[in-house]
Amino acid sequence: MLNDPRSHGLWEMTAPPAPDTVAFSGKAEADVVIVGGGYTGFSAALHLAERGTRVILLEGAEVGYGGSGRNVGLVNAGMWVMPDELPGVLGDLYGSRLLDVLGNAPRLVFDLVEKHGIDCEINPAGTLHCAVGQSGLDELKQRAEQWARRGAPVRLLDAAETATKVGTGAYAGALLDMRAGTIQPLAYARGLARAAIAAGAQVFTGSPVTGAERNGTRWTVKTPRGDVTADWVIVATNAYTASPWNVVRTELVHLPYFNFATVPLSAEMQAKILPERQGAWDTKEVLSSFRFDKRGRLVFGSVGALRGAGLGIHKAWARRSLKKLFPDIGDVAFEAEWYGKIGMTADNLPRFHRLAENVVGFSGYNGRGIAPGTVFGRTLAELVSGRIAEADLPLPVTDPQAQSFRSVREGYYELGAQIAHFASARF
Ligand SMILES: Cc1cc2nc3c(=O)[nH]c(=O)nc-3n(C[C@H](O)[C@H](O)[C@H](O)COP(=O)(O)OP(=O)(O)OC[C@H]3O[C@@H](n4cnc5c(N)ncnc54)[C@H](O)[C@@H]3O)c2cc1C
Repeated sequence: MLNDPRSHGLWEMTAPPAPDTVAFSGKAEADVVIVGGGYTGFSAALHLAERGTRVILLEGAEVGYGGSGRNVGLVNAGMWVMPDELPGVLGDLYGSRLLDVLGNAPRLVFDLVEKHGIDCEINPAGTLHCAVGQSGLDELKQRAEQWARRGAPVRLLDAAETATKVGTGAYAGALLDMRAGTIQPLAYARGLARAAIAAGAQVFTGSPVTGAERNGTRWTVKTPRGDVTADWVIVATNAYTASPWNVVRTELVHLPYFNFATVPLSAEMQAKILPERQGAWDTKEVLSSFRFDKRGRLVFGSVGALRGAGLGIHKAWARRSLKKLFPDIGDVAFEAEWYGKIGMTADNLPRFHRLAENVVGFSGYNGRGIAPGTVFGRTLAELVSGRIAEADLPLPVTDPQAQSFRSVREGYYELGAQIAHFASARF
């Protein structure tokens, strides 16, 4: 995308084409203007257009340019925060609403894919959160117990069953979550965009919003070649924010995350590793994730940016780690490599902001934005069309709080990942 093979890697090589779009020019009126073309923006556009609302979506680069086109494709249920801790952080009302909404969020993704016939390698086979050592297993035991108490279809696997399901004896156990699954992320973003356009939304790419003005009760948002005037503005720019609402960016610390995709593995290795095709990640602080694509390529990722010294360090680490986890895999070649930035909030929870009168948005998905972005996009559509009130949202209205020492912490994450991956060669 934008001639950068390390931005969207395998997903760009294998996704169906994006719908035809052009840059916005001239002047236009709408009921709602959406800024940002990822899951949040397209889900909002789709759900608004389906009810006959006049909606214009302005994307600064291309469909799925941000996190939505680069991620691992794990359609997770819930957040990093333990279910029992949420009421303590958000209060009982919002805590239980958020658990409910996010626990069921993968269902909305799977339903939309089916309803709109989106070709995105969907596989609702569940996910495996793999325990590294006893401390990892203790954490997963708590998660399993807390979700099971709420009726979620989760199961803690022992080491032997984990070894069969993952294809390695490296883990002390795993949490199997049958609400979850995997998708081809860019294909999903493009499919949502196509569905939104088919429902009547107007989508423009190469159209960065550079300013916004309040004119009476309406907003005029500016792009390099024209203006859109609307009653409501939805800001759906998350970690890739470059906009008049830059406060959304200052609240997030960017955590870099990369992926390597192997060439399609042999039939024997495909039968051994993740034979049921769950998506997997582990409990380490500098975590690793792995999953297959439809052609049998193993997508293997971790924290870090593929630039400068990081490129060689992370690639060497990925080769070593794959062999350590799956000794029979051999010297497998990589077919693609790419990375992106994850927007982390201070407490690992997403945010709802009213950035100004009739300017609203969700952000801060902490690396878990496929299902939340889709469900919160629908929620934004319901809010701006008056079908729900702010008081009914799954999160309270908060003001963006800039995180201190952001660039220092971002540098620390990037360098820290290099050190962790470099050091793993020696121990
Ligand atoms: C490497 C990586 C791995 C991840 N893995 C997972 C995973 O496995 N599972 C999961 O659930 N989540 C994962 N995530 C997180 C997930 O991808 C994001 O949370 C999600 O894509 C956010 O969607 P969004 O629509 O809110 O924002 P984005 O997809 O980031 O879209 C924002 C868009 O806004 C546009 N934009 C910004 N400013 C402007 C402007 N001024 N005018 C117009 N457009 C603008 C950008 O160009 C961008 O396209 C991962 C993220 C990354 C980067």
